[in-house]
Amino acid sequence: MLTSRKQQLAVRALNYDLFENAQIAISEQEISPKEQPAALPSAETLQHLFNRFNFLYFNGKLARPVIEYSNRMTCAGSYTPVKNLIKISRKYHFIFPDEIEDTLKHEMIHIIHFNHNAAFKAEAKRIGASLRAKTHPSLRKQPKYLYVCPSCGLEYPRQKKVRMSSCGSCSKRGKFDPGFKLKLAKSFAAGREISYA
Ligand SMILES: [Zn+2]
Ligand SMILES: [Zn+2]
Repeated sequence: MLTSRKQQLAVRALNYDLFENAQIAISEQEISPKEQPAALPSAETLQHLFNRFNFLYFNGKLARPVIEYSNRMTCAGSYTPVKNLIKISRKYHFIFPDEIEDTLKHEMIHIIHFNHNAAFKAEAKRIGASLRAKTHPSLRKQPKYLYVCPSCGLEYPRQKKVRMSSCGSCSKRGKFDPGFKLKLAKSFAAGREISYA
């Protein structure tokens, strides 16, 4: 139940995000790991996939990592060199189940290249792995900035400062409209909440 008008506006802003970024709209309950435990391949299947990709793309030379799912991770995956551990996000792949092989390939490149440097990018291109994961509002961290439309009051939580953005609801034809330029209302950067008049 959404109690305050503020909350309702914040949710509406997220819906506009879906539109603006052409992302896929999926309700929160559809991505709950508890409700769909069987939707993703088992960790064992991921190991088999690793072996296949290792053979196909790396001549079998990658050191075999531990591969496990993370229930908390909001990014697609991660690689921890000291543990030789690949973590695959459940939340992320409940939303983008078709991305799981891509995520695994991406993390496999991290076994040889820690950063997303030029060498990493060349490998990603060679084996057909993405450089960046998709985003979805329900995966977002707490926003650092809160922008508001000066006309309709829609709220736009953001991770980064925006300069030339206008309200998706008020602007004509989805283009930047200076008449509805978003105003910074609050900043949560550096852990402190600062309000702007
Ligand atoms: Zn990466
Ligand atoms: Zn507006």
